[in-house]
Amino acid sequence: STKPRIVVVGAGYAGMMTTKRLTQQLQPQEADIVLVNKHNYHYQTTWLHEVAAGTIDPNRARIMISDVIDTKRVQMVYDTVTELQPQNERVILENGELSYDYLVVSLGFETATFGIPGIAEHAWKIENIENSKAIYHHIESQFIKYASGETEDDTALNILIGGSGFTGIEFLAEVVEKVPELCSKYDIDQSTVRIINVEAAPSILPGFDEELIEYAEKNLSDRGVEFRIGTKIQECTPDSFIVGDDNEEIKAGTVVWTGGVQANPVVGQSGFELTKGKVNARDDLRAPNYDNVFMIGDTSWVWDHENDKPFPVNAQSAIQEADTCAANLHALLQGKETNNFVFDNKGTVASIGKGDAIGTILDDYKLFGKKARLMKNVIDNRYLFLVGGPKLILKKGKVRFF
Ligand code: FAD
Repeated sequence: STKPRIVVVGAGYAGMMTTKRLTQQLQPQEADIVLVNKHNYHYQTTWLHEVAAGTIDPNRARIMISDVIDTKRVQMVYDTVTELQPQNERVILENGELSYDYLVVSLGFETATFGIPGIAEHAWKIENIENSKAIYHHIESQFIKYASGETEDDTALNILIGGSGFTGIEFLAEVVEKVPELCSKYDIDQSTVRIINVEAAPSILPGFDEELIEYAEKNLSDRGVEFRIGTKIQECTPDSFIVGDDNEEIKAGTVVWTGGVQANPVVGQSGFELTKGKVNARDDLRAPNYDNVFMIGDTSWVWDHENDKPFPVNAQSAIQEADTCAANLHALLQGKETNNFVFDNKGTVASIGKGDAIGTILDDYKLFGKKARLMKNVIDNRYLFLVGGPKLILKKGKVRFF
């Protein structure tokens, strides 16, 4: 066809919503739309900590892409991107290649190890459905080994979590929920299981309000979590972290690292310049140097001129960027000017267990406990609504608390 071809790579929050918006805003004759993704399903990255702790059925965190994207309008390519060639306007896949007129890079993140020795090789990482499922299988297998007498080492049951940012805290809170269930299933005394969180920064949940941090730390400590805050991980081994100036070894059968994220490695390997692990996108979300490439979601930073720092990089901003990206693609197709992205912060809520959460909404209104947890479910459901309408909320939504 002679129509311009838009290729979107990566069907996470950013890629799914961009594609959805393009199908809503463009007439079929305006452009061909191609969506490339590793799998035929989209997963809820913001629920992966629940998959990793075994507190949610992994299939609930997945959506078949063809259930929510009009595959008559959008050509689906289920393949893995191995390289982007912006000079040649091509995308190289494991099993072929694609050319494009416009490219949207929404390949998401990989875990950043900050060069800590052993993390890359030995720690579990919460990155996608498959490895999150594997984390839970591993945790349960430690309980099985201990219960069957295959190991008598108590530390086999310990769960050690590096990093107490958003992901680390949400994951450890789910682990706190799951451990009693595993203990009762395998007849293990709960006091033999330690849940330990190690963080180099002076507090958990950096960037959150102090009162909320205190609340979270107290509630999780009361439920048995051991916090080692202000403690630097020197090294990771298959069954421990070596921490602090005195190289203390904290042993555990399960070692998970949640310390940070950076752009999908394909982005850097394709020659895009990285600053602190991500591409500095232009104000209208285009990549530097290429007028027909957009860099959105976890692959990029977008500058917040008003506050002289990057906008937050999270699911909420990824979904909002998708709106701007789709509108800007439409503008370019019509020879019009693009608009700059502006993040509208609707608040952030971190879950700290089944009926508990902390967060802020409406700029600085603080929420705790059940109310915050309800808000968290509203946020989760809102995305399902945007991408799949009310049907999807009924199918996958978090309505069990209402
Ligand atoms: P992703 O959602 O990661 O999607 C990337 C997509 O690209 C995936 O579908 C993947 O399969 C595909 N892909 C990757 N590599 C390739 C390849 N080579 N070829 C083809 N396809 C590929 N943010 C919030 O706002 N609120 C929260 O409560 C929150 N909780 C979180 C909890 C956890 C456990 C984690 C890990 C993150 C959380 N975040 C949260 C952050 C948020 O999930 C990310 O910012 C968001 O997922 C970014 O969206 P994205 O579309 O850029 O990438």
